[in-house]
Amino acid sequence: MRLHVTFLIFLGWIALSASSAAAAQWELLRVSLIFLCIGLHELGHSLVAQQLGVSVSSITLLPIGGVAALRRLPENSWHEIAITVAGPLVNALIAAVLLPIAGWPSVADLVTIPHNAGSLVRALAGTNIVLVLFNLIPAFPMDGGRLFRAVLGLLVSYQRATRVAAIVGQGLAIVFILVGWHYEAWVLLLIGAFIFFGADGEDKLVRARCLLGDAKVGDLMRRQFATLAPTDTVERGLQLVYQTGQDAFPVIEAGQLLGIVARPDLLDAVNKLGPLVPVSEVMDGRFLVVQPHDRVALVQDEILGTGWGSVPVIEDGRLVGLLLPDNISRFQLVRAGLKTARRPGVVGRSPTPPPVIGAVPPIAVPPLPAAPPPPSAPV
Ligand SMILES: [Zn+2]
Repeated sequence: MRLHVTFLIFLGWIALSASSAAAAQWELLRVSLIFLCIGLHELGHSLVAQQLGVSVSSITLLPIGGVAALRRLPENSWHEIAITVAGPLVNALIAAVLLPIAGWPSVADLVTIPHNAGSLVRALAGTNIVLVLFNLIPAFPMDGGRLFRAVLGLLVSYQRATRVAAIVGQGLAIVFILVGWHYEAWVLLLIGAFIFFGADGEDKLVRARCLLGDAKVGDLMRRQFATLAPTDTVERGLQLVYQTGQDAFPVIEAGQLLGIVARPDLLDAVNKLGPLVPVSEVMDGRFLVVQPHDRVALVQDEILGTGWGSVPVIEDGRLVGLLLPDNISRFQLVRAGLKTARRPGVVGRSPTPPPVIGAVPPIAVPPLPAAPPPPSAPV
């Protein structure tokens, strides 16, 4: 879990703007506990997501709320419903525990600085109720909007459901911005802007993903590529960068895939250690591996998350290709340019893939290192 730097500035601002030291203490305590509840809310999403096989790369707390970054979007509507409901459910449970202790909160408890433990607990209970209600507003990509999308997704395609949810979300975001502007409620204004751009971003992401359809890694992967031997120098690696147009290279010895070395590592090594260092000293021995029959839509996030991502494609223990983010974006570019009716037949899974003509002979790959933790890729 991470605290965004603006969150710390926000806490500092609260401390400085309070009328007295005591008020500052109570207010800091209240705000910290509220954000603890928001963190638990995001943890609720994350735990259910992990139970359903969707890993979570990070949870970040911002002054306007929390964000749990899933490594991929759940495609199953029921999974999305379960993951989404888990967050507000945490706040509902917290409120259910606090209400019998402190009693029902008044509006004053919510808007004034608490002055004793009782008013603090009432404020927390009230805030958790507000969090549940606010999150259920169907402003995609807020929780209510995600629920709306997931329910729509049971009726129409995921892409269409996302489109509709994004339009509704952006409409509500404009309302938030106008109301926030009118009442000088800046947090609401910021949340509105966050929702507006978030809805647009996620809609684009889903459209791009739908273009992938059920394309397999083997349909898109690069079949001709350069490789390096562990004894090759980093200077040789950099030559290959401009000679081949590749940014990352498999490092191979006696038919075994030892690692991957990418352009930033090569440049870094030349600058720090000189041009004659062998690539074996700078390569990354922990790498993600995919198979030709994997669906690109399912491995895309991991691949994009690798940054310079050249992901080796392994079949029957042999390196048969490399999958690059560029392969994926070009495939999407071609599909987007095709008229809808022709898409499936023209560019799709090729029934007879071209023969493997890699620059390396088919090689035996040793038992691979345990699946490496995929790098962080906020979604
Ligand atoms: Zn949530």
